[in-house]
Amino acid sequence: MATGNFALRKKGEKLAPLSERLARLGLTRDWDFVLHLPLRYEDETAITAIGRLVPGEAQQCEGEVIRSDVVRRPQGNQLQVTVRDATGHLQVRFLHFYPSQLKQLEIGKTVRLYGAVRQGYLGLEMVHPKVKTPTQGAALPTTLTPVYPAGEGVTQPWLRKRIARALLDVEIKDLLPETIRERLHLPELHRAIKHLHHPPVGASLMALSDRTDPAWQRLKFDELVAQQITLRYSRELKAQTIAHAIAPQTTALTDRLLASLPFALTRAQQRVEDEIAKDLAKTTPMNRLVQGDVGSGKTVIAALAAARAIDAGFQAALMAPTEILAEQHFQKITQWLEPLGVTVAWLSGKQKSRDRQNNLQKIVSGEAKLVVGTHALIQDGVSFNRLGLAIVDEQHRFGVAQRLALRSSNDEHLPHLLMLSATPIPRTLAMSYLADLDVSVIDELPPGRQPITTKLVSIGRKAEVLANINEQVLQGRQVYWVCPLIEESEKLDLTAATETFNEIREALPRLNVGLVHGALPAEDKQAVMDDFKDGKVQVLVATTVIEVGVDVPNATLMVIEHAERFGLAQLHQLRGRVGRGAQKSFCILLYGELSETGRERLKVIRETTDGFEVARRDLEIRGPGEFLGARQSGTPMLRFANLETDVELVEAARDFAGQWLSIDPERAKQHAKRWYSAKEGFLEA
Ligand code: ADP
Ligand code: MG
Repeated sequence: MATGNFALRKKGEKLAPLSERLARLGLTRDWDFVLHLPLRYEDETAITAIGRLVPGEAQQCEGEVIRSDVVRRPQGNQLQVTVRDATGHLQVRFLHFYPSQLKQLEIGKTVRLYGAVRQGYLGLEMVHPKVKTPTQGAALPTTLTPVYPAGEGVTQPWLRKRIARALLDVEIKDLLPETIRERLHLPELHRAIKHLHHPPVGASLMALSDRTDPAWQRLKFDELVAQQITLRYSRELKAQTIAHAIAPQTTALTDRLLASLPFALTRAQQRVEDEIAKDLAKTTPMNRLVQGDVGSGKTVIAALAAARAIDAGFQAALMAPTEILAEQHFQKITQWLEPLGVTVAWLSGKQKSRDRQNNLQKIVSGEAKLVVGTHALIQDGVSFNRLGLAIVDEQHRFGVAQRLALRSSNDEHLPHLLMLSATPIPRTLAMSYLADLDVSVIDELPPGRQPITTKLVSIGRKAEVLANINEQVLQGRQVYWVCPLIEESEKLDLTAATETFNEIREALPRLNVGLVHGALPAEDKQAVMDDFKDGKVQVLVATTVIEVGVDVPNATLMVIEHAERFGLAQLHQLRGRVGRGAQKSFCILLYGELSETGRERLKVIRETTDGFEVARRDLEIRGPGEFLGARQSGTPMLRFANLETDVELVEAARDFAGQWLSIDPERAKQHAKRWYSAKEGFLEA
């Protein structure tokens, strides 16, 4: 296919269906909505006269629009508005806006604004306040307005309605025995939940936001108890599981693979390889996470583990989260193992039915010793001949249920499980809670890597950057250009990607520019990637589909447009696509308007290329909260409680969970299901 083919979604095709977007937020059952608690609150219960607004606080006011201008700025158009009431004037600015907002903010209209007030250039101002057109005579709310964790295509107003409905529909039965509730001075569950969703006027915002409120204590305790129960339960399950010991008579294939590699393993790789070999030789299933920064060489570790399994007469499976990544593993590993006589099968959801049948046949007959693919590997109809080892790359969650799906039929043995990831797990979590998961760290990069130089450049200087690229590419370099993320809409992301693609093609007419994005059919994606790998495409315009794993050592320049819109971990992953060869590599972060924290965040990426350090500083800036790494542990993630600061609750929960399971196991499990069943799939296994 031509690289100019950038077919977007077919007509009529939409964003991911709502149910899928909700599932990404962990929202499937009514109970999930009930337990989807606010991040913070907005106090819309009062209107402050403009003359009484205090800088530094979020407040609500109401007034008439007396000025509304669209002003040109190098970063894009701004909307500047002045609102007044009988007591004063307020300036309001929007750095981006929709046509509907222009209408809402026309001169003469009355608007209600909610936002942080600050001292601006021309007096008090609000930047990007929430704007409403007030309804005549309608009363103000009597409870604080919850602000929920939301996501792409799932808006606050929608969530508020949906959660309010769930609160009416679900019977919030208190499963906790009264004795423990009284001993810990915890409120009843339905009261606590309602209080947190809709705190009355006058509730202490402080206690709510630092989560010391008794209602929060109750929810945290319940969460911790649920986690304890699930942990104990999965340990119990695990104690009952067995695996085939992979202790081969010969290590012929493993040795030949090692000998045929164009490089020697680093010391860290050797150590990790040894650890895996020891685990594999046991009759309890391995459950090991290999954690290594981007480019540390995890793929070869996977291939060696597979070789060990094959040497012992077993099959191995390697699963990756995206087509691009799976295909890349397939190519690389085939290139390593096929010359040594190993048949590798390929499975993907997008495969033609005949190909699939053909591959399935090889898997069930045992002819294919190694199977590489996407989630298609754990779908119905895949039946292994003698699976000994399952490897999962860059997967954030792989629960017991999936693991059970990945085993040979008629075999009560579980495969050994090896997970690979570049996302660091916080130390405290690893120490206190990962009893079930062994972690190996590759803490060394292969020799000869050139450090990546990272530069921050204002987006106003894009033309310069493009001219520079032209030069570099003519000298044989290849470039990734990552398109800006547009919040709220996947559709806009695609439009933006296409626009960026056209823009860059126009700016660099002498170069071959390709485009890949998530909605591209798999073959087209692959065709573009192949052309990039072969050097036919010199500039690859991409969305974050290239975030993990993509390995094209000749690509030495990465440009990320509107870098301030990406998460730090994501920027680090993206940057890891360059600096993989012997050439010096560069990463250019093009930034638009930056907030104080925005600037600080980008500085982190400029100052360090160490994934652990990035994660640590990210945590510092954001404060502890959701941490991706926690999911990898296979341990149910904590959303509300904090293992470090809620020590007393953690201990109480640990003691109580043990008692509860022995006194009333049914109830205890029912409790854990409320919290986790949809999300983690633990208790279903
Ligand atoms: P990641 O850990 O990000 O998955 P990869 O496995 O893709 O990293 O490895 C990155 C690159 O480094 C690949 O091109 C790989 O072949 C190469 N590589 C891996 N181990 C070594 C080594 N010990 N010495 C030199 N190059 C290596
Ligand atoms: Mg990788």
